[in-house]
Amino acid sequence: MPPRNPERIRAQKPRIGVFVCHCGHNIAGVVDVKRVAEQLSKYPGVVYATDYEYMCSDPGQELLKKAIREHRLNGVVVAACSPSMHEATFRRAAGEVDLNPYLVECANIREHCSWVHDPGEAATQKAITITRTMVEKVKGNMPLEPVEVSHKEKCLVVGGGIAGIQAALDVAEAGYEVILVEKSPTIGGHMAQLSETFPTLDCSQCILTPKMVEVERHPKIRLLVNSEVEEISGFIGNYRVRIRKKPSYVDPDLCNLCGECEKVCPVRVPNEFDRGLSERGAIYIPFPQAVPSTYTLDEETCLGIKPLICGKCAEVCEPGAIDFDMSEEIIEEEVGAVILATGYDLYETKALPEYSPDDPDVIDPLQFERLLSATGPTRGEIRRPSDGKVPKTVVFIKCAGSRDPELHKPYCSAICCMYTAKHALLYKHAVPDGRAIVFYIDIRAPGKGYEEFIHRVMEEDRVLYIRGKVAKVFREGDKLIVWGVDTLSGQRVEVEADLVVLAMAVVPPKGVEDLARTLRLSCLDENGFLKEAHPKLRPLETLAGGIFIAGAAQGPKDIPQAVTQGSGAAAKAIALLSAPTLTHSPEVAEVDEELCSGCRVCAPLCPYGAITVEETAQVNELLCEGCGTCVAACPSGALSLRNLEDSQVESMVEAALAELSPAREAVEVKGG
Ligand code: SF4
Ligand code: SF4
Ligand code: SF4
Ligand code: SF4
Repeated sequence: MPPRNPERIRAQKPRIGVFVCHCGHNIAGVVDVKRVAEQLSKYPGVVYATDYEYMCSDPGQELLKKAIREHRLNGVVVAACSPSMHEATFRRAAGEVDLNPYLVECANIREHCSWVHDPGEAATQKAITITRTMVEKVKGNMPLEPVEVSHKEKCLVVGGGIAGIQAALDVAEAGYEVILVEKSPTIGGHMAQLSETFPTLDCSQCILTPKMVEVERHPKIRLLVNSEVEEISGFIGNYRVRIRKKPSYVDPDLCNLCGECEKVCPVRVPNEFDRGLSERGAIYIPFPQAVPSTYTLDEETCLGIKPLICGKCAEVCEPGAIDFDMSEEIIEEEVGAVILATGYDLYETKALPEYSPDDPDVIDPLQFERLLSATGPTRGEIRRPSDGKVPKTVVFIKCAGSRDPELHKPYCSAICCMYTAKHALLYKHAVPDGRAIVFYIDIRAPGKGYEEFIHRVMEEDRVLYIRGKVAKVFREGDKLIVWGVDTLSGQRVEVEADLVVLAMAVVPPKGVEDLARTLRLSCLDENGFLKEAHPKLRPLETLAGGIFIAGAAQGPKDIPQAVTQGSGAAAKAIALLSAPTLTHSPEVAEVDEELCSGCRVCAPLCPYGAITVEETAQVNELLCEGCGTCVAACPSGALSLRNLEDSQVESMVEAALAELSPAREAVEVKGG
């Protein structure tokens, strides 16, 4: 463990180099970078200061390495962008010329200065101050070594939609064992419910089911359906997972899919797979190509198992596949990486009472998919749920609940423009003399072939796109009346429709908050989706090491994006699993056991669960992310952060305040 007081230890005289980056016009357009370098060159402890156009470029890094060698630097401050962008770059470069990487710091004069201020003297002064404070920090920094740890060579994938399927297959193909956990009785997710996929109109199930079967057959994949992650503990490379698997009461090896059980089951409940447009028994198969390929008994809707009330299904099951004695299993696994592919739900139509959501002929887009699907309740014929008639006018309302920061969801649901166009086209294929009217705010079609697809649909006979919002949908006799406004002509529009399809907002799935809590991920975004570590540079990672995200878990995604993310998250997991050992930053909290009273104030405050307290507190270095919460909370001053000791913070504050008091600064500079 490195010593507590760097001032006592850091005997070497500081020889610090300062490198001020222009970042093109990003910094140099606002801050006088030459003057920052010039001012810093006079600062105590600084023996070299310069400015350069792009410090992160190869020549910039070479400049840094050359200066370290030539000026025998024992500390470096790069005044540039946020450390989350390039701290690793500069530390690696320093390491290449034998300067301990933890003696390199970034002074953030871009996000914290040039990006938030107008050009001028004040911005330049602030950049000088920020850089001086980091020089003070480096003066107190200790050379450190990364913490090393071994890891398990197994991956947990949570969610069996297309993103989770792709991730599981990719990790398994790389030779690592995968546990794929899915809460419903089958994998496939929403993609299994779709009829055809935009813009190519491939049959969704035809392209999905081979992958589902591959998952089931893959020797490296253990598929756990009807299962949920109940608890997860540990740290990067070494997570312990507790999974609760509900019984299916049917032995998949014995079930021959004859369907006799469902025929005799007296229970009829709405079929979730058909979004309530058909019914199922308490024993059922979600859809014919379900994986695992077996019937399943839904304990919640069965008349009763313990004690057995009816038992008719078992009486007719010839192979004896039904076993009422099955019970819940708790499965414990140890994994090195976790991929969260928890998918999405649709915002409930009930949230839009102005559109008459209780009317059976006002449906959501997945219900329309089931009407279009050959495996759906109408075998692909478009029929009104209310009376089974073929609807001759269908109104599609886009952005239903999306892009409405006042009342509903502020974000764009990303897929509605495309699937609504597909719905209009497929409806026209099914009902050639029908009329499709699409109300839209904007058309957003940025994918490959998407724009062309939208134009193709708009040019279809009897497909009408109206730019505007719908105020109200209500029933009048046999018809649904749609009141809207055409914002291009400024005219009010009234349509008599037979069926209305609401392109509901994409929302995070139920239970994702609990999962995030289980995983100790304090990282749901403002809309409740899982938050990535960095939206541009680390979109597949969370802030918890070794836990990745894929697909709509992170926000609305179409199928190509979900598959891409599934493969991307798998690549991240494979990189982790294939590393000989894992490293973790040593800049973490440490406890002075002499000072610790064992009061336990710190442990519950740590957002990463890194602290345990027995007689005294112990910090798990692999879990600690160096946030400093515990340090601030400890009443005994027993906790400190490596390379951010109190004495360093005090020097940094002094340096910052010196700017406010030139006289005091002059005294200190002279003294230095
Ligand atoms: Fe399977 Fe038995 Fe039902 Fe047939 S009756 S589908 S074998 S559980
Ligand atoms: Fe249906 Fe349950 Fe009776 Fe089986 S025991 S037939 S699942 S109600
Ligand atoms: Fe020890 Fe401080 Fe934690 Fe109390 S808060 S247990 S004194 S480290
Ligand atoms: Fe936990 Fe933050 Fe303290 Fe580390 S620094 S032990 S992450 S509270």
